[in-house]
Amino acid sequence: MKSAILSVGTELLFGQITNTNSVFLSQQLNYLGVDVMYHYTVGDNPKRLAEMMRQAFTDCDLIITTGGLGPTQDDLTKEIAAEVLHDELVLHEDTLNELEDYFKRINRIMTENNKKQAYLPSRAIMFDNDAGTAPGFALEENGKTIICLPGPPREMTRMFERKVKPYLEEKSESIIYYQMLRTFGIGESMLETELQHWIDGQTDPTLATYAKEGEACLRITSKRGTMAEAKAAVEDMIGKVSQKIGQYVYSYNDEEYYQVVGKKLIDQKISTSSAESCTGGLFAQTMTEVPGISSVYDRGFITYSNQAKMEELGVKAETLEKYGAVSEETAIEMAEGVKKVTGSRLCISVTGIAGPDGGTEEKPVGLVYICAILDDQRISKEYKIRNVSRKWNRNYTVLCMLDMINHLIDKRQ
Ligand code: ATP
Ligand code: MG
Repeated sequence: MKSAILSVGTELLFGQITNTNSVFLSQQLNYLGVDVMYHYTVGDNPKRLAEMMRQAFTDCDLIITTGGLGPTQDDLTKEIAAEVLHDELVLHEDTLNELEDYFKRINRIMTENNKKQAYLPSRAIMFDNDAGTAPGFALEENGKTIICLPGPPREMTRMFERKVKPYLEEKSESIIYYQMLRTFGIGESMLETELQHWIDGQTDPTLATYAKEGEACLRITSKRGTMAEAKAAVEDMIGKVSQKIGQYVYSYNDEEYYQVVGKKLIDQKISTSSAESCTGGLFAQTMTEVPGISSVYDRGFITYSNQAKMEELGVKAETLEKYGAVSEETAIEMAEGVKKVTGSRLCISVTGIAGPDGGTEEKPVGLVYICAILDDQRISKEYKIRNVSRKWNRNYTVLCMLDMINHLIDKRQ
């Protein structure tokens, strides 16, 4: 099925609001296996709205509109949808009753123009709105479909999840199943090169790679007659690609890295403490986003200055003098210091240069040392992070820390 998304609203053209609806709908349609060919944006203008719809139908079978369904004068999407698919608006008694009930419930007077919302195309397949008043609907004619949804994102997304998705799934003869693999430590281009063989010859399942901040994702999708078939095809392909890139995959289920690591720490009851220099507590903040982490996470030291590193963690003055605060030796002493103070099973430390200033030829911005101790294993490593911005460097450093922990826990470093 080929589709177009048509966003209605003059304020979109003025740049007063960001078109988040089209982003949401594109993602959702993509997951459902509906091809999105165009994004159109048009003001509250009946002539141009009708033109856009007719144009979209020259090579699409489905148009999804958002906005312009409300009670006011400038809301005219449904009038135009009806005109384009040769229907007319009629009063839907059920919708009118629901509207009256709604206004009674919220204790407000229903104004005359609200009644306008109960006028809908006679052949409309209704989608009720449980987050607002304007109902949405689908209108079909000779294999062409217009789905009209309200503009407010909260109403639109709820209606899509609850009503439109099942409607579209029903329409499609096949079932889509996909899994999103998340990887770290391999760039998108390398990932694609490793998987070229399957990507080139792909029909079903299909493989698509995506770059995400500092990570690369792989989506494996199958479209089959039944869910069982689609799932089996995806799982079979996962088995194959895992042999090539399995060591980089941290989630087969589209989870964030901190969620994966947090879950492992909780499940395996691994007490954890950290000491951070260049990330200034970002690791601690990230870990504590995980619900239930208090059962294992003990504490985090932010030891930014040399003095703090010495006082809190017992890093030796000679080490700092001889190798510098940003060195593998300092990272190791920091982690050992955390171990001594807390006795946690997992102790991790980080020291580095976040930038934008402070780099030298010998120690450039992005140079980071991480040390992790888990029970009797210890690893320390130098990273040369691509310097993008202070914020990015720090975020990426936390990913490196999570990656080190993950490998240490799985004993596959
Ligand atoms: P209402 O009943 O509230 O009038 P409506 O269906 O007529 O809803 P609009 O009047 O077009 O929708 O838009 C209502 C509000 O929804 C806008 O002011 C804006 O805040 C939000 N909105 C509309 N379209 C979009 C969009 N494409 N992306 C994000 N927000 C949007
Ligand atoms: Mg409106």
